[in-house]
Amino acid sequence: MAQFFYSQSKMGLYRECPLKYKFRYILKIPEKPKYFFTFGTILHSVMEYLYSTPQFPPLEDALKFFKQKWSAQTWQEKGYGSLEKEQEGFLEGQEIIKKYYAKHLADNLHPLSTEMKVYADIDGLTVMGIVDRIDYLGDGKLAILDYKTGKTLKREPDQLMFYQKLLENSPKLLPLVQARDVEIQKISIEKMLFYHLPTLTEDSFKPVPSAELDLFWKGAMKTAENILAEKFEPTPSEQSCRWCDYRGSCPVWNLNQEPKPEQEQEKPQETLAEKIDRLGQLSAEGRALKAEIIKTLKEQNLNISFGTSYKAELKENEVLTFKDEEKTLEFLKQNNLLNKTLKPTVKSILALLDDPEISEDKKQQLRALATKEIKTKLQCVKTED
Ligand code: SF4
Repeated sequence: MAQFFYSQSKMGLYRECPLKYKFRYILKIPEKPKYFFTFGTILHSVMEYLYSTPQFPPLEDALKFFKQKWSAQTWQEKGYGSLEKEQEGFLEGQEIIKKYYAKHLADNLHPLSTEMKVYADIDGLTVMGIVDRIDYLGDGKLAILDYKTGKTLKREPDQLMFYQKLLENSPKLLPLVQARDVEIQKISIEKMLFYHLPTLTEDSFKPVPSAELDLFWKGAMKTAENILAEKFEPTPSEQSCRWCDYRGSCPVWNLNQEPKPEQEQEKPQETLAEKIDRLGQLSAEGRALKAEIIKTLKEQNLNISFGTSYKAELKENEVLTFKDEEKTLEFLKQNNLLNKTLKPTVKSILALLDDPEISEDKKQQLRALATKEIKTKLQCVKTED
């Protein structure tokens, strides 16, 4: 078996759905290209390029570098839906670079590293990650930065804690710092930042205390153990299944898929009577189908499953009934709760109109208080044989 490298993205994908993890990392079936990933990867490489020399290279060079990276793939290979969308992405990328350049040119910052691959042996596992940027703050203190390129800046505490654990255990960082500051014997992570490139804003965090980090790492180790034990049961959810590239091979997704019907023959025009019969039949079939789906989902221990265009989800509602009316009334009286429950509802007022103990005159007066609206409702019930 190939060596197992544990990373934050593997942990995240496994937690999203273990079967998806299996398709991606064990069966090595590549996912379809996604434009937002390509966009992010290219902007990351531009950031690396900007910091590759003691000072920012000229802006024209940075834009040329961006264009080269961008042109290396077609719009389809980048995962865009159309050439127009891809061109919008290109212009957006250019704008981001120009604004970033203008804002940070004067910083004259020399990061300790950019896009550095970090490895550490932790609890018998080889843990790895790519850290977008590490800045040296002096006195052995480090700032860890992660670029974000999505529409909004999402906080991902798991990612930060994973990096914190990885970097605190990495043997690579101290020599890197010592190359700059020979006196330093100990390093510490001072802050961790998400930098949102589209808005040029950053969100900064203090590293979590060791007790919290230990707890997080326990969970991360449990996930790694499950991966190594090859536990790959699917855990479908609307969010992960909707964008999953493996639906075609996933048993959950295909659970109730029927073979596609053959090309339908042109039907003669249906009479009203036939339509009524068909509606009744479809409703009955719908009810039977619903019962079958519920049964299958329960047997398969699933809460959700998908057709090609619909999803079926089991939802449980708690239904309470009070069979002993006397006792319930007594309880309400004793606890002064009766008034609260006897507030008139539309349903209870309408019931008065059918109450034989109320005079027709009173019913007329009550009816006059109501606003009348005719709503059409179709009932389709089986006729007596
Ligand atoms: S379709 Fe859903 S359940 Fe199946 S692998 Fe993808 S995420 Fe998992």
